[in-house]
Amino acid sequence: MAFKTVSNIPKDSFLNKPPALFDLNDYVRQQLHPLADAHQECEEALDMIVDYLKKKVPLKVRRVLKSGAHLRGADVRGEVEEYQLVLFLYDFKSMADCRYKLNEILQQVEFHMKKTNWIVDGNLLMEKNTEFSVRFTLRCSDHRDKFHRILIFPCHDVLKGDNPTKLYKDSMYKDMKTLDEAGRQVYWPVVSQLQTKFIQFRPPAHAVNNLIRLVKHWIHTCFREETKKNLPNAYVIELLVLNIWERVGAPPSFDMLIGFYGFLRKLMMPQMTQAIWNQNYDFSKYEQFTPKNTRIPFIIDPASPFGNLAARYIKGWDDLITVARESLRKPLLWGMEEKRLWQVNPPDEPEDDKEDDKGKENKKKNDKDKKKKK
Ligand SMILES: [Zn+2]
Repeated sequence: MAFKTVSNIPKDSFLNKPPALFDLNDYVRQQLHPLADAHQECEEALDMIVDYLKKKVPLKVRRVLKSGAHLRGADVRGEVEEYQLVLFLYDFKSMADCRYKLNEILQQVEFHMKKTNWIVDGNLLMEKNTEFSVRFTLRCSDHRDKFHRILIFPCHDVLKGDNPTKLYKDSMYKDMKTLDEAGRQVYWPVVSQLQTKFIQFRPPAHAVNNLIRLVKHWIHTCFREETKKNLPNAYVIELLVLNIWERVGAPPSFDMLIGFYGFLRKLMMPQMTQAIWNQNYDFSKYEQFTPKNTRIPFIIDPASPFGNLAARYIKGWDDLITVARESLRKPLLWGMEEKRLWQVNPPDEPEDDKEDDKGKENKKKNDKDKKKKK
């Protein structure tokens, strides 16, 4: 059967536990939620690298942005994270100037990274630079047997700080609109700042963050290793879970079993996902909604209105659907279809039963809460 080549659900997987004897909420809290100071050592190591760069490399650093799953409040216990460090530099006068000088600056950063003591100690291994970043792996004292991948992106601070005004954002998107996809890539470090901000507005222990952890754990443990490279990245998974949760009214707490079941069901119907968030831009100003492929969902990055994020993972969506279908037949989810909870309606259809009216009210309440926080 086809799924045998994709899935790899172990006998002792949470999916094989009988629901009467197994509490998925406890499992997530006790096994997947990260421990309190899980990332302290990695963060200290990152800070040391930033200090080193500030002292040794003759660059004028305006500010540094750190990103990684735990900084978005969406990390899974034991996961050795990839981190990105964005160095916003006064050395660039504009994004065009950044594009022009980037290679030279990457070489400078690489040159100095190669001289660190961490290399001598065997705790840092340089890798080949990417077009936009210096890349290496680092071992921190908490994660001794595994290496973190770290990418350093020097960039122009086009949004001018942590809390960019609408004016700066509009102007950036206007410039990006004039470029093709390759030309826009130089903006990625700036866009990543808005991505982190978008995901991290809830406390890390929020129920939806726990559902994100569970879905990541499902991907980590139930897919064959060689299929994982085709799957959507962590950020796309985070957006997909958020979209499904918002569509049922963004409940502040819910049963993990119902949430996970709802997620798998939703995965099976990719044509029903139209995820567009307008917090940073007005989508209609930049692109038209034209889903061309109903085998994949339509997910627009809340940090950049250009292109469907899901389109980069066409093979991966097929694999997600295959394993979701198999997972739905596992003991943990037996009998769930009769409960019909966390039912997600197709987009733009009248929602008229009681369940959905309640959902709408929750959604309104949540939107208000969000506004209050701002
Ligand atoms: Zn670490």
